[in-house]
Amino acid sequence: MALTNTLLLLAQAALYFAVMMALLHGRRAAGVGVFMCAIGVMHFLETYLASVFYIQLPFGIISPGSTVLFSGKLLMILLLYIREDALVARQPIYGLLIGNFLMVGLVILLRNHDTVAVSAGRLPDIAFVDEMGFLMVWGTLLLFVDAILIIVLYEFLGDRFGRHLVLRFLVCGALVLSFDQAGFFLALHYVSGAPWNVFLGGWVAKMSATIVYTVLFVLYLKYFGEEDRWISNRPLRDVFATLTYRERYYDLLEASTRDHLTGVLHRSQYDEQGPAILKANLGDGRPLSLLVIDVDHFKQVNDRLGHQVGDEVLKAIARLMIENLRSEDHLYRIGGEEFVLLCEALPLEAAKSLAERLRKSIDRFSSIYFSEKVTVSIGISSAPADGRSLSELFRNADRRLYEAKSQGRNRVYASGLDDTA
Ligand code: GH3
Ligand code: MG
Ligand code: MG
Repeated sequence: MALTNTLLLLAQAALYFAVMMALLHGRRAAGVGVFMCAIGVMHFLETYLASVFYIQLPFGIISPGSTVLFSGKLLMILLLYIREDALVARQPIYGLLIGNFLMVGLVILLRNHDTVAVSAGRLPDIAFVDEMGFLMVWGTLLLFVDAILIIVLYEFLGDRFGRHLVLRFLVCGALVLSFDQAGFFLALHYVSGAPWNVFLGGWVAKMSATIVYTVLFVLYLKYFGEEDRWISNRPLRDVFATLTYRERYYDLLEASTRDHLTGVLHRSQYDEQGPAILKANLGDGRPLSLLVIDVDHFKQVNDRLGHQVGDEVLKAIARLMIENLRSEDHLYRIGGEEFVLLCEALPLEAAKSLAERLRKSIDRFSSIYFSEKVTVSIGISSAPADGRSLSELFRNADRRLYEAKSQGRNRVYASGLDDTA
């Protein structure tokens, strides 16, 4: 009996994790909305289960809703944050908050209906709805705090655990789920007099869930993801400001560092930040790639379409590039129609495929939306192989850009004339 229950819980966790990680993994192809909607739907099932569905395990009575789905969802939000950033992670956090309050509002209206039975004896369970309303409001607020807490804690622990991604993940899960269990139990205890062993049972279950999910995450990293690409280290203050929608203040501060036409960083920022970014990556033993991106025959574009359209073309190109970047990529406009992209923790091969992706999307976009095809050529260099100083990296990438131009433009060069064209 206990064994069957345990195996069933493990199967649920594995199924949940496999599907959600597949959606997170494929978010570039499928769109991150698919992942977020799936989180939202599971949230509903979880709340329903937490109000009525309990099972007996040797250490206590637990709810698969809180154990598998709630713990899983919180960790998924953290993983979404790590892969994307606070700007993306806050979307499901606020979506769940608002959606849950909306649901409570609708339930309050719904329960005033005079309902009819469509099949014998199957009237809606109003007690369940009542239970759910209370659990929803309290659980929703807790979840909101939990989600922000787990992300902030993750960044906070970065100083202590640094690159120990799995350890950070485990500690965050354990601490935040303990906090959550305490918060949830207090409400249950004072409102419905739940005994203390309910706290303990739920806590043991959530800790076990954290361990199981950590193991699944380690397996995922081993077979599908490179651990390096999961490391994140962002300033705590910025993360918190973004999670609480207060980043506008910092945006204003930052606006002075951005180019007015395209919104990407100024050349001055390249000179200011570039060396430090390179140094940090070299120090951590991570590769850094530098791309020099130059618009082909832009003079002609201006001559034929006019300077104003030329400006629009530059804006569109910058936007297309921004859409393809990770939070560890830094894009600078260093000349009229020339950009530099610094990609942290990105080896040469990956930088090449990124550059190809940029080149193709600009090519494709321009042939659809511009009256004249606009293309870019890209030269790439990578530290430490191509140099350990920014000027050396730039020189090499620029030389390759020149080669790409002389070979006919609209191409990517990463290591000289013999390379992919
Ligand atoms: P290549 O393929 O060799 O790069 O040819 P190109 O014409 O792009 O090369 P060149 O560097 O000689 O010309 C760049 C042109 O970009 C010159 C200038 O008129 C135009 N340009 C520079 N800044 C801006 C800008 O902010 N807006 C517009 N519309 N044009 C700009
Ligand atoms: Mg040019
Ligand atoms: Mg140029």
